[in-house]
Amino acid sequence: MKIQHFINNKLVESTSGREQDVFNPATGEVSGQVVLASVDEVHAAVAAASAAAPAWAEMAPLKRARILSKFKELIEKNHVELATAITREHGKVLSDAMGEVTRGLEIVEFACGAPQLMKTQFSDNIGGGIDNWQLRQPLGVTVGITPFNFPVMVPLWMAPMALATGNTFILKPSERDPSASLLMAELLKQAGLPAGVFNVVQGDKVAVDALLQHPDVKAVSFVGSTPIAEYIYTEGAKRKGAYPLRVQALGGAKNHLVVMPDANLDQAVDALIGAAYGSAGERCMAISIAVAVGGVADKLIEALIPRVKALKIKNGMESDAEMGPVVTAAHKAKIEGYIEIGVKEGATLIVDGRGTTVPGHEGGFFLGGTLFDHVTADMTIHKEEIFGPVLGVVRVPDFAAAVELINSHEFGNGVALFTSDGNTAREFSRRIEVGMVGINVPIPVPMAWHSFGGWKRSLFGDTHAYGEEGVRFYTRYKSIMQRWPQTIDKGAEFTMPVSK
Ligand code: NAD
Repeated sequence: MKIQHFINNKLVESTSGREQDVFNPATGEVSGQVVLASVDEVHAAVAAASAAAPAWAEMAPLKRARILSKFKELIEKNHVELATAITREHGKVLSDAMGEVTRGLEIVEFACGAPQLMKTQFSDNIGGGIDNWQLRQPLGVTVGITPFNFPVMVPLWMAPMALATGNTFILKPSERDPSASLLMAELLKQAGLPAGVFNVVQGDKVAVDALLQHPDVKAVSFVGSTPIAEYIYTEGAKRKGAYPLRVQALGGAKNHLVVMPDANLDQAVDALIGAAYGSAGERCMAISIAVAVGGVADKLIEALIPRVKALKIKNGMESDAEMGPVVTAAHKAKIEGYIEIGVKEGATLIVDGRGTTVPGHEGGFFLGGTLFDHVTADMTIHKEEIFGPVLGVVRVPDFAAAVELINSHEFGNGVALFTSDGNTAREFSRRIEVGMVGINVPIPVPMAWHSFGGWKRSLFGDTHAYGEEGVRFYTRYKSIMQRWPQTIDKGAEFTMPVSK
């Protein structure tokens, strides 16, 4: 199977002569090839999106919303098909993939409120018969560059917001699990989206660079690792022209879950098992560090060990699977490398997931749940994102040390605190330098009408994704002041205009 581009509401065969294998991570077998765009193919997609932009921007927001509403129905009808495409190429368990589709669907639902989202404020008679109001106008051609770990949800953080606000959109999905992008494109077409409004370009760095450099591209929304996020942001800032490229680049993470001595330990353990090992730890909001405060560590470790060992690791298509494989053999080797480094740097390896095999799936990219104790702030496995099923426990004496540990980390995506004390929770929420905070909630991914984004080196740019921040990102603000001849005084004025 060859996974192609989708431009102008049609599959377009690549002639670049470049392609890359796509794997089923549960078996290790090659399931197809994804084409990798040439610069000319990227330019063809931008040309299609540019040509479609004026009419789409002129369409009444309510009409755009009706197309998105139809898209929402089609996602619901094709929920299992989309989730299956995710599991086949990403490896996460099907129930998790179903949840991913639901979280993406919620953004589509939010974007169906386009007329309300585009509504602005009006000040009647600011003085002298003058009224003042504002417009939020679309930018034109916008681009989304997305990571492998949420091949449906992350594109849906972007595209519905861009489309609802009157922009056209080009998606450059991850080359590791590209099939779901074409399913979404097909559903948007079926929903009645005009040709050229949503396009998919498959590819790698060549495609990304061509998109970043094209003068017709007005905004780039990126989600992926921090080095690439920083690269995209820096390249965007270099672009000259009347409008600098608008960039929102969400990067990597290292998320802590703090367990206070007064926390309900059973709940904290359940939370850690789900948040550290769900999706094999390949979530930007996964918890990879448990911060055990004031002597809670021994009990925590004791409770975690049997749970980590009992994880049901299987092909994600099996109904009772709790954890599937990781995405590629190379990624598996990278995670194993981090486990080795953890041991070398002196952390205590309590459960070692290396060498795990799944009967009947010997070629799959499986790794067992891994648990480290006595991880310290300066260790590589604390400082760097592993993006695998590896949980480390850091022991700290008190609440202040927990806050200090987290605030001094370079990432600031998500964080969680488990406690039964309201004041501790309140202090934590206010003092912690992290973009998304969960109190007794391990993975606090904001709902569609709030916005998603981290702090520090987890996000480059001024706006977070989707919600109201998404509307701001995809629109340009314009203020209009107006009066009519009957109310205009005679004579030129040379002083700063003030309300009269
Ligand atoms: P990645 O950075 O390798 O790839 C992301 C995108 O960038 C892909 O589309 C890829 O094709 C492209 N890309 C890769 N190398 C490039 C290069 N040299 N130049 C230009 N483009 C390039 O990320 P990934 O491995 O697909 O995804 C996992 C990462 O994404 C993790 O770091 C994770 O934390 C992060 N992530 C962050 C969030 C968030 O909201 N902050 C959400 C999901 C994933």
